[in-house]
Amino acid sequence: MAEITLKTLAHSYSKKPSGPEDYAIRKMEHVWHQGGAYALLGPSGCGKSTLLNIISGLVTPSEGDVLFDGKRMNELPPEKRNIAQVFQFPVIYDTMTVYDNLAFPLRNQGGFSEEKIREKVQEVADVLELSGELQRKAKNLSADQKQKVSMGRGLVREDVTAILFDEPLTVIDPQLKWRLRRKLKQIHQRFDITMVYVTHDQLEASTFADKIALMYEGQIVQFGTPQELFERPAHTFVGYFIGSPGMNFFEPRLTDEGLMFNGKVIPVSKQVLEKVRSSGSDNIKLGIRPEFVTLGTDTGEQLYEVLVTGVEDLGTYRMVDVEFGSVTVKVRIPEDKPVPAEAASIGFPEPWLKVYVDERLVEADHE
Ligand code: ADP
Ligand code: MG
Repeated sequence: MAEITLKTLAHSYSKKPSGPEDYAIRKMEHVWHQGGAYALLGPSGCGKSTLLNIISGLVTPSEGDVLFDGKRMNELPPEKRNIAQVFQFPVIYDTMTVYDNLAFPLRNQGGFSEEKIREKVQEVADVLELSGELQRKAKNLSADQKQKVSMGRGLVREDVTAILFDEPLTVIDPQLKWRLRRKLKQIHQRFDITMVYVTHDQLEASTFADKIALMYEGQIVQFGTPQELFERPAHTFVGYFIGSPGMNFFEPRLTDEGLMFNGKVIPVSKQVLEKVRSSGSDNIKLGIRPEFVTLGTDTGEQLYEVLVTGVEDLGTYRMVDVEFGSVTVKVRIPEDKPVPAEAASIGFPEPWLKVYVDERLVEADHE
């Protein structure tokens, strides 16, 4: 068991990278603490598998270091790293029984009595609901069952530094998927192993993980609890990717009076405004989640005139589209609240309106 540190890590599959776009992993610093249940979340192609393979040793990073408890691992081959990795598609021995498949990692490692092996295999089979299949040949199993065996092979060893799951439930049907994810969480609690679970599904990430690393274009743009990612997106991509739909964004103009949009100043804190000014950047965005926008018919200082252009009924709530100058803002309201017919006004309650410069969150310093 160990803490896994990625130090000034970067990786390009190209021998002569000519710019950032040639890097699958762009320079990053990151620590996975011992015993954490983590999700590595991001869209296809953002570098999730590359990052896992660098940790397990299947890929040697072109720059930077992988440290386990402070010790450099770069040159150590995968089999010496004590990492269990579970892939998208099952990796099992078809001709062996389920029992022998599960026992294999322990026999291979050596030093266990057959009795100890049986105990461990039964424990894992029990958790994965494979107890009735132990004597079957692996080739006769369904795709789901094969993947469970594959996961079981990662779980039998107690000595592992970490278990890395690379979208392991892709081939599994939704009902079972949900149960398996719960099981993984139980296993995590029982064995206190560091787990990194790769997925592109935010729901899967937040039901499994205590903390999510959100990856975008080869970088971890935010590492936090599901709540932190929702309430305080550190990067516009986090705002966009988390939530359904994601954050509303619009681009104000910086004037002497402040941030202007659609003919009105949109107030933000003095300190934030100062930071925006001193950045010198003209890539400025305001962001607010549909859940936090208020909708009504009042007029007032910090209310902005809009037109309601669409209402979608989603059962317990409605998603309302309003036209705000040149953009459509989405507003989520409870089903029992009336939706104004056409002319309406929206408001941006103070803590929820976020300011981004060059896609990064700008905040007032904490007092
Ligand atoms: P993810 O798992 O998030 O979908 P990957 O780590 O597989 O992302 O890929 C990240 C980037 O690296 C992508 O642009 C992909 O095309 C590229 N890539 C992945 N594996 C290789 C490889 N073996 N050789 C060259 N490029 C690769
Ligand atoms: Mg992948």
